[in-house]
Amino acid sequence: MAPEEAQVSVFDRGFMFGDGIYEVMAVYDGSVFTLDEHLRRLNRSLDAIRLESPHDDETWRQIIEQAVERGAESPAYLYLQVTRGVESPRSHVYPAAVVPTVLITVMASPILERKEIEPLKVITKNDFRWGRGDIKVTSLMANGLLKNEALAEGFDDAVLIRDGEVTEATAANVFIVKDGVIATPPKSPYLLHGITRDHVVSLAKKANMPLDERALTEDELLNADEVWITSTGYEVWPVCQVNDRFIGNGSAGVVWQEIDRLFQSSKD
Ligand code: PLP
Repeated sequence: MAPEEAQVSVFDRGFMFGDGIYEVMAVYDGSVFTLDEHLRRLNRSLDAIRLESPHDDETWRQIIEQAVERGAESPAYLYLQVTRGVESPRSHVYPAAVVPTVLITVMASPILERKEIEPLKVITKNDFRWGRGDIKVTSLMANGLLKNEALAEGFDDAVLIRDGEVTEATAANVFIVKDGVIATPPKSPYLLHGITRDHVVSLAKKANMPLDERALTEDELLNADEVWITSTGYEVWPVCQVNDRFIGNGSAGVVWQEIDRLFQSSKD
């Protein structure tokens, strides 16, 4: 239906408490990229917030396929949100009978020429978020605050540091390259297990590009030869500045060129 016709109760727990989870998927050439991985993470997030999935995987696939067809946009982003439904009066206690609210939107995304990719400037900030960044929850208050602080200070995004180590950016995972070796923080409860991150790790490994999943200090980030962020929206995007330090020569690095080439051809 048209967005202006869609209705959600003001007592929806998604609205009241941010009590919901979501996925963002890319639609390329009319089909959802890495759909299996997104469904796996959707189920993992639902399990983690103790919300029974309203559909089995086969049904999710059909609903998503229908949304892509009706959305008739490609390339596009498909946004899927599941909340713990309506509860009145408002209460912290979960309702006994939950009817989850499901929202799916499909929005056109831009097609970028590679030469339009401008490397980002990022600032490091203290990661004060809760300890379950691995669950893709709709309550993104902290991520929004940190992103907007970064923008207000003249940067494009923030890279978050917890106890001296890089976790992720406000809506993307972080990679560095040092002396030809790619590195990204290991999966932990403090960061989202990005589908794009995993895809990039597997592309690099298949191409025999050296890659470590290991803790990265803020100092390593500042002294890297290349820095990239990865997400469904950004794919793999180069970073040219961290705080007041220029990374490489200020434009996208050679390892990025190679991983981007692999990434673009993996869409076919
Ligand atoms: N980290 C955070 C906090 C995010 O919000 C996102 C995506 O929105 C990512 C990482 C990247 O995840 P994915 O590659 O699955 O889009």
